[in-house]
Amino acid sequence: MMNARTQLANEGPTRAGIGALESVRAFADRELPKLVRKIDGEGYYPEGVLRELGQLGAYSQHLPGYSTIIDLNAAVDAMSAVAEHCVSSAFCMWCQDALAWYIFASDNEELKRDVGFRIAQGDVLGGTGLSNPMKAFCDIEPMRLKGAEAPGGYIVKGVLPYVSNLGTAHYFGAVFEVTSPGGVTRNVMAIVPCAAPGLSLVETAKFAALDGTGTFVVQMRDVFVPRAWILADPIDDYLKKIRAGFILLQSGMAFGLARDCIRLMEQTRPALGHVNKFLDEQPEELAEQLDHIQSQAAALAATPFEEDLEYWRAVLRARLSAGEASMKAAHGAMLHCGARGYVATAAAQRRLREAYFVAIVTPATKQLRKMIADLATD
Ligand SMILES: Cc1cc2nc3c(=O)[nH]c(=O)nc-3n(C[C@H](O)[C@H](O)[C@H](O)COP(=O)(O)OP(=O)(O)OC[C@H]3O[C@@H](n4cnc5c(N)ncnc54)[C@H](O)[C@@H]3O)c2cc1C
Repeated sequence: MMNARTQLANEGPTRAGIGALESVRAFADRELPKLVRKIDGEGYYPEGVLRELGQLGAYSQHLPGYSTIIDLNAAVDAMSAVAEHCVSSAFCMWCQDALAWYIFASDNEELKRDVGFRIAQGDVLGGTGLSNPMKAFCDIEPMRLKGAEAPGGYIVKGVLPYVSNLGTAHYFGAVFEVTSPGGVTRNVMAIVPCAAPGLSLVETAKFAALDGTGTFVVQMRDVFVPRAWILADPIDDYLKKIRAGFILLQSGMAFGLARDCIRLMEQTRPALGHVNKFLDEQPEELAEQLDHIQSQAAALAATPFEEDLEYWRAVLRARLSAGEASMKAAHGAMLHCGARGYVATAAAQRRLREAYFVAIVTPATKQLRKMIADLATD
């Protein structure tokens, strides 16, 4: 339940948000440049960095009932400050933000007081296995986790092909489908500890980027999910509550990445400006577009619990624009940097690989377009 003193931050970042952002930015500027190649090239999972970011307040600004103001924009800004250096780390932040968002948007007070509080602080880490249900709710693929009612909870089985920001002591949000004895199906959402008996984390194939994100295949073989871990049963109304926040928070990855790509383009100007000026993508134009998308997303993030269909359509469009802007900026950075950006250790080629992740992580560009098209026919 929302704390009585909790308000939405609808007039720009709060003082607490600004304080956390400044600390996060200073920390990211200091720590990430020396780690980013190891994260990208060796698949190093920066667990210590992620914990430290939690201590600086990066994961707690947007949580209903945790602080007095729900400041999604502060969470987005913190994530974007990290994404300016490394999208892998920023994505892990999003995983953490989303997990905390699920808990604090639920009615499960016990979870908030216990593990929720520790997740908000970065003391406990974790992620979200919601790609599959989000695609299932959009008629893209079937539900992969099935639950059966059992005394005190549910027995859940199935496989999720990718869940990030995980380790043996981590947690993640999951949705499973339950069919009642009468044949009626409903979806239930819970948080699940990776240490639960019957749950295994299996290494995935090496990715083109985002390999340092603690991403695993999650296998659940008759995992007992007690009622104490349930976030919503059934999920329907709760899903409407969390979906805008889930999507808008992702824009932090896109904004930070695009800002760095614009900077990369500008840096080439003294040496290559005489020829780069013939390219279609120019930093001034991209920066202007980015500013516009950022202000639209910020306005939407000020009211994440709005239920209006027009609001939801605008959220989907904003996320689509953010993803497309980051891909355009990364493409531009690659062209502006030329061969120096094509070197295996160069930032431009890494940024381009990272940008494609923003476009394929759920909801992917194609799913967003489908969702927007489906809304038009509803
Ligand atoms: C690095 C990384 C981290 C991710 N982290 C998370 C996370 O934390 N939580 C989460 O829920 N999801 C996560 N995902 C999944 C992601 O959000 C998308 O769902 C996924 O990228 C597929 O999206 P899609 O739009 O391509 O799906 P679709 O086009 O619908 O196709 C995906 C289908 O292809 C299958 N498939 C997957 N890999 C292959 C392959 N190599 N060959 C053939 N088929 C394949 C999938 O099982 C799925 O059924 C992650 C993905 C990546 C790459």
